Amino acid sequence: MVALLLANLAAVGLAKGEMRQKGDTAVQSESLLENVLAENTGKEKKGTEWDGDYVSKTEPYPYLYAKNGVVKEEVPEKTVFLTFDDGPSRNTVKILDTLAKYNACATFFLIGENMTEDGVEIARRAVEEGHMLGMHTETHRYEKIYHSVDSFLADYDKLAARFVETFGECPSAFRFPGGSYSSYINPIKTELREELNRRGFVGYDWNVSGEDSVGTPTAASIKKNIFDSLEGQTQPIILLHDSPCSNLTAEVLPDILERLVAEGYTFMTLKHREPYQFPW
Ligand SMILES: [Zn+2]
Repeated sequence: MVALLLANLAAVGLAKGEMRQKGDTAVQSESLLENVLAENTGKEKKGTEWDGDYVSKTEPYPYLYAKNGVVKEEVPEKTVFLTFDDGPSRNTVKILDTLAKYNACATFFLIGENMTEDGVEIARRAVEEGHMLGMHTETHRYEKIYHSVDSFLADYDKLAARFVETFGECPSAFRFPGGSYSSYINPIKTELREELNRRGFVGYDWNVSGEDSVGTPTAASIKKNIFDSLEGQTQPIILLHDSPCSNLTAEVLPDILERLVAEGYTFMTLKHREPYQFPW
């Protein structure tokens, strides 16, 4: 069991991990949940990782705890961080095929409700192929998740439990739906960010957007949006989507990668980049 847990921790440690065998999944998942719960509770008892007034890190959201997975390192000058929100979906499969063809890696911010049996297999494939997974939301319903800090944390706890069940722990990287500055999130943003940071999570917005889920995008508009705003950006984080509706993104991705490669860019997952959120 310990070996299995370690294998799964490695998988969500966002490097290549071992695929768990099918079968006996329910029993294994239950044990993983118990183990992680015990581990989190143990950390809480020690209470050594945060200074100042001690506040429970795991209650009342027992799975909402992450090990900070950011690796601080020098990032080569022409590096892009591709990110895809709102998967997994059938479009994620096409996107993974394209990324493999160009030897590129990316970070996927997942929606819990899309982590069906098929969705989970797609997420496992992404990890197997060297990509990174991040937290996006369980439901993606703005009026519900941004109703209060507690509504948001309750939503994220469900998503975290899904990750724990599948990979043994939840990723430390998260992205707020709509980003960290919007009329939806602004009333609760400061407290919410503090709560997530306190629990070990690190946030990532973007500084380049394909605008592929806004209005009526075209292949040309997505490419133009990206390459117009890429210029002059350091450590660009490119926002794209892999939702069930993102057919166009999947179609245009080969063109985008072709040009990024031709312009001398290399690709990294966000694990290698310092956190980035919109200035408040
Ligand atoms: Zn989203």
